[in-house]
Amino acid sequence: MFFTELFKCRRIKYKIILLFAVIFILPLTFLMMISLNRISDVAQQDLKRNTGYALSLYRTALEDQLDTLRIRAKTVADFDLYNISTSGFTAATTLPVMQYELVRSGLDYIALIQDKSIILLEEGATPSEMLSRVVIPAMCHSSLTANLYILGDEAWFFAAARLTKLKTPETRHILFAQKMSRDFGDKLKRLTGAEYTLIYNNKQIVTTKMDVYTRRETGVNILKEGNSGTINIMGKSHYFIREAALASKISDEIKVEIAMPDSEYKRLEKSMKGDFFVFAVIGVLLALATGSMLSWDIANPINWLARLTTKVAAGDLNVSSAIERYDEIGILDKNFKEMIISIKTERELKENRMSELNTLFAISNAVNYFTDSEELLKFVLTHAIEVLDAERGSIMLLDDQTDELIIKVASGGRYRAFTSPPVKLGQGICGIVASEGKGIICNDGFKDTRFSNFDSLMPVEDIITLICAPLKFKEGTIGVINIVNKRGGGKFSDTELSLLNLIASQAAVTIENNKLYELSITDGMTRLYVHRYFQARLSEELLRARRYGLSLSLIMIDIDNFKKFNDNYGHQVGDKVLQKVAQTIKETVRTGVDIPCRYGGEEMSVILPETRDDEALFTAERIRERISEIRVPHPSGDLKITVSIGVASYPIHSHDRESLIKVADKALYESKANGKNRSTLAEGKNINE
Ligand code: GH3
Ligand code: MG
Ligand code: MG
Repeated sequence: MFFTELFKCRRIKYKIILLFAVIFILPLTFLMMISLNRISDVAQQDLKRNTGYALSLYRTALEDQLDTLRIRAKTVADFDLYNISTSGFTAATTLPVMQYELVRSGLDYIALIQDKSIILLEEGATPSEMLSRVVIPAMCHSSLTANLYILGDEAWFFAAARLTKLKTPETRHILFAQKMSRDFGDKLKRLTGAEYTLIYNNKQIVTTKMDVYTRRETGVNILKEGNSGTINIMGKSHYFIREAALASKISDEIKVEIAMPDSEYKRLEKSMKGDFFVFAVIGVLLALATGSMLSWDIANPINWLARLTTKVAAGDLNVSSAIERYDEIGILDKNFKEMIISIKTERELKENRMSELNTLFAISNAVNYFTDSEELLKFVLTHAIEVLDAERGSIMLLDDQTDELIIKVASGGRYRAFTSPPVKLGQGICGIVASEGKGIICNDGFKDTRFSNFDSLMPVEDIITLICAPLKFKEGTIGVINIVNKRGGGKFSDTELSLLNLIASQAAVTIENNKLYELSITDGMTRLYVHRYFQARLSEELLRARRYGLSLSLIMIDIDNFKKFNDNYGHQVGDKVLQKVAQTIKETVRTGVDIPCRYGGEEMSVILPETRDDEALFTAERIRERISEIRVPHPSGDLKITVSIGVASYPIHSHDRESLIKVADKALYESKANGKNRSTLAEGKNINE
């Protein structure tokens, strides 16, 4: 559960640490545990084998002791006592032999037994009252026996031999008794390394009192249950084994217990356990350290890169990474950075291209929106300033007559007016650009040697950087576009010059198109709009008025007695009069709002959008008054001009173009009929002079 959760974890760091745990710690732990188990098994087996060996030695020693005693008894029975028996067993003859034997064989007791029960003679210390009741009958049941008996709290070796060569039929046995010595197991202890040996009789310890004493001192329960196991002596673990001393030879109640201290292998196991613990701690620490190091070295940078790519995938390219390395991760990071840079560059390039295209498109389209050429120039200029991220700029056009550059529009910067005298071709930066037809970047501003002041009213120190491109149309240059001071104190680049060149050439086409269009709708003599344009605009304005519920007025003007000028002073004077009247009308009406037209011949009209009849009549009167003030100089004296005017308005007088013209015409006719030099509002409303 924990591990699956861990593997689901999104962090490489934890996976690396886990990997280390799985690869190093777990297998080594298993290996160590198996080794420890094996050593533990070996130690246990070694201990058991050693203990078993000690036990078998002990048994052999017991058997040896019994055999020795039996053989000795047999010898005494068959030789020593046989010689005596010829003269009968008397105390005087037998006892010395027995005494001698007691000493010689190291016995504790010796007795001559008659009829398997009666003690005839005895020497040494009587072992116990059990002797005649239990031991003697048992020992004398056959001709030769040896056995071990527990009498009181002591173990005794007994051997009995029948005197077989007696001439008399009586039964005689010689009985040897030897107390088991306190150091009986000592040799064995030295040989096998056993801690102690004990003889039991029905759970009662009968030998090696010293051992018992020692064990009592330690307070250990000496009679531990079971026939084998571990026992603690003086703080040390021992293995003990308890078995019948000599099964089927002596009483099964007599048991031997041997305890063996832990074997060398056990100590090895213990020290290995310690080693293993130290190793495990070091292993865990190493795994953690290595895992952390790897995670720091690999997982962290990958994690960092992963977060960067997530950001980039979400469209945020303003990312930076600070990985300083030269391995694969370093390469990954480097390539990633380069990719971001190239994506950024691509994107910027694309955005620039889009903005350039938009600008060019806007400029080429501008001709459709601006009827006024000055506004068109202004539009082009503001776009160019914006795209080039500059402070200000100006457009100069070449005058057809004088061949000089004249500022047509200027925009931006601290100054309201940009005026400078006309610039001759070849003079200053703009003059050079116009004459050579090639753009110039002048990042030194006014300090540039080609720079010329032209007696401008503005301080030249204000021009820090300058870029200028020619407005080229077909083969010729029609003007220049100046862009001044890159924002943020930067310099203009070649890319920006190419962009400005593009804008300029597109602007030149647009300006020329606009010029052509203006030409096509302008009457050459009067500079008023032509009849065709008048008709089109009137329809358009009527539509607009209708749509938005506005009013619209139409003024029709006819020069009084015009024929007279022609007839009396010639057509040239007539034309001059016409031009003067047209100019006056143009100056009197609202520029860019009212639409003054040449209706035909010496008749003129003005469309007044969003104007009521009374307002229109007021304007008509103003026109009429201004015209009446005109004096056309002539050798025969200044000539005076008067006009008659008819005014009609939408919607009060008419609803469509044809009838509006008709109604206005009718009003004009009424002005004529009523004595000329007057304005008449349709439906008879008129104001006299
Ligand atoms: P009225 O006061 O009734 O209007 O008298 P009028 O002499 O002005 O009469 P009318 O309007 O009929 O005269 C039109 C004349 O204007 C005819 C034509 O010779 C002259 N004319 C029309 N266009 C031009 C032009 O472009 N130049 C010159 N010089 N004369 C023109
Ligand atoms: Mg006329
Ligand atoms: Mg006339």
